[in-house]
Amino acid sequence: MIANVESMIRDMKKYALDNKIPIMQDEGIDFLTTFLIQKQISNVLEIGTAIGYSAIIMALANPNLKITTIEKDENRYLEAVKNIKKFELEDRITLIFHDALEANIEGEFDLIFIDAAKGQNIHFFEKYEKNLKESGYIITDNMSFHGLVEKTENEIPSRSLRALVRKIKEYRTFLESKTDYEVEFLNIGDGIAVARKIDK
Ligand code: SAM
Repeated sequence: MIANVESMIRDMKKYALDNKIPIMQDEGIDFLTTFLIQKQISNVLEIGTAIGYSAIIMALANPNLKITTIEKDENRYLEAVKNIKKFELEDRITLIFHDALEANIEGEFDLIFIDAAKGQNIHFFEKYEKNLKESGYIITDNMSFHGLVEKTENEIPSRSLRALVRKIKEYRTFLESKTDYEVEFLNIGDGIAVARKIDK
């Protein structure tokens, strides 16, 4: 039996903050957990586990949910293994240590959550949409990228950040051009895109 889930969640958030590990903002994760329940999502594929925070919060919000999540950084993966064990969620969260651009994931999911390298979103989308069920959702975080996507290029301090912001804008255009999905951009947390695959 888990003693104090709330304090364990606080510890995980503190660890992320102290170690400069980006995890979902409160507003974004609240949206995601509500969405899972409203849409009766039963399984999720997450690209970008970090230390397991969002996967754990999603699993806690819905006791029937199963999650497969992929992380390529070994230290973060190992921390996620520890956290998932602490929360006793090993039977519902499958953790894969691999580069998601090279992994081969079997099965179909109600929801794919993309929260990894922001410049690679198009590649993640194209690689994993084969794993999406009919009428399933692909949700992507950080569409605003800390407000930088709304700024002009002159206002963005470094060349690497400008390149990243351009990639996020390209992804936005890519989503808008997809006629087989209904796409919504939500001003929640760090900006969330929800793409729903249209039934054939
Ligand atoms: N979803 C997590 C949460 O909210 O708790 C945060 C994920 S963090 C924003 C992004 C993670 O994606 C990083 O830990 C990074 O190492 C991982 N990542 C980036 N590119 C990846 C790839 N190609 N394959 C797997 N993981 C990747």
